[in-house]
Amino acid sequence: MDFNLSPEEEAFRQEFVPWLEGVIAEKGKIPTFKDAEALDERVAWYREMQKKLFDAGYAGITWPKEYGGRGGTLIESFILDEEIQKRAAVENFNGIGFGMAGGVILAFGTDEQKDRYIPAMLNGSEIWCQGFSEPNAGSDLAALSTRAVKDGDDYVINGQKVWTSMAQMADQCILVVRTDPDVPKHKGLSFFIIDMKTPGIDVRPLVQITGDAEFNEVYFDDMRVPRTQMLGEEGDGWKISIATLMFERYAVSQYGSFRRSIDGLFELAKNVTRNGRPAIEDPVIRQKLGQFHIEVEILKHNTMRSRSKLLKGEVPGPEGSIEKLYWSEMNKAMQEFAMELEGPYHQLMSGSKWALQDGMYQFAFLRSRGNTIEAGTSEIQKNIIGERVLGLPKDAARAAVKK
Ligand SMILES: Cc1cc2nc3c(=O)[nH]c(=O)nc-3n(C[C@H](O)[C@H](O)[C@H](O)COP(=O)(O)OP(=O)(O)OC[C@H]3O[C@@H](n4cnc5c(N)ncnc54)[C@H](O)[C@@H]3O)c2cc1C
Repeated sequence: MDFNLSPEEEAFRQEFVPWLEGVIAEKGKIPTFKDAEALDERVAWYREMQKKLFDAGYAGITWPKEYGGRGGTLIESFILDEEIQKRAAVENFNGIGFGMAGGVILAFGTDEQKDRYIPAMLNGSEIWCQGFSEPNAGSDLAALSTRAVKDGDDYVINGQKVWTSMAQMADQCILVVRTDPDVPKHKGLSFFIIDMKTPGIDVRPLVQITGDAEFNEVYFDDMRVPRTQMLGEEGDGWKISIATLMFERYAVSQYGSFRRSIDGLFELAKNVTRNGRPAIEDPVIRQKLGQFHIEVEILKHNTMRSRSKLLKGEVPGPEGSIEKLYWSEMNKAMQEFAMELEGPYHQLMSGSKWALQDGMYQFAFLRSRGNTIEAGTSEIQKNIIGERVLGLPKDAARAAVKK
């Protein structure tokens, strides 16, 4: 693969960067992670920024023009993400929309569903959440028990989801439920698009180890949804859920934000001391920084490789697990290293006047634990890589359960 940008791709970067810098200059301060109480302000910022991207033709770079996308290339999409993430220009509250819901609606939705949902996703007016996990169905998603029962032209939904990120601000939800309890568990599932303002939905935020309430419990109590809100056919839930997870494992990897993290670690190493000298002069610290720099660059090339599969119009495959396992474990190690660099200061959180960079790394360190769980745990990614990429035999415990 040729990693050099073509003249057209370089021209796209040259056109986009001044536009982005202009918007940032005009908008002023971006609300940050520590303004936990300013969540509404952060979400409003996201919606406004996304609308600007949409109006300027920079939303949904690879998505079809007829649904509000740009009809551009994956490399252009990569350039745009990289430039936005490098500047932390906008906190993306709609990763689930762009990374999952959009992909499966374009792949499995009717023309009416694409018309209704894709432009509203791209222009920032609708944020999405993902109702998959339940108290007794996480890694084993097919064991889920939230039930949808057909009643005339509607389905009536009862049950509970958990760890539903962004549900407290989401306008729409991709929801997988059981429509047939009498067939093998993978076959009895169906996939719906749910308006989060429908009566019968109760969202209860859960506070994470970071102190943020990013995810929620979501209860469904006789919630009615019309048949037209189903994606695909009844019984297609497993197929579409698996496609969603494949999209998710590609989507959550963000080279630009890791580039920013590694640049930040170099700065941190210049500003803290080791044995009375700037830590960056310590050979062991230099070696670790060099290693992380290499790993972030490897991530970039892996991302390009996997994107080239999408470029050929293919649905993402199980090899997305390699990327997800790689970046989530790498990020955990990078944030642990930041704690090591800060020395005794690492114990101070945002709010302490002595905390370095107002506790930014403490937040990132605590949040990085969740990276190895969300979108499928590291153990599950290893199983997928072993079985579905390398073709190894199924893990003994699961094979025994299935018998
Ligand atoms: C920050 C965050 C955000 C999330 N957002 C969402 C969301 O928006 N929507 C949503 O639906 N879900 C979301 N989740 C839930 C996430 O998908 C699940 O937590 C994850 O799939 C694991 O499921 P579980 O928590 O039930 O753990 P379990 O499946 O009970 O696993 C417990 C432990 O057992 C291990 N394990 C399980 N099965 C196997 C096996 N076969 N082989 C080896 N080890 C195994 C796991 O690796 C794990 O260590 C989120 C989670 C986090 C942390």
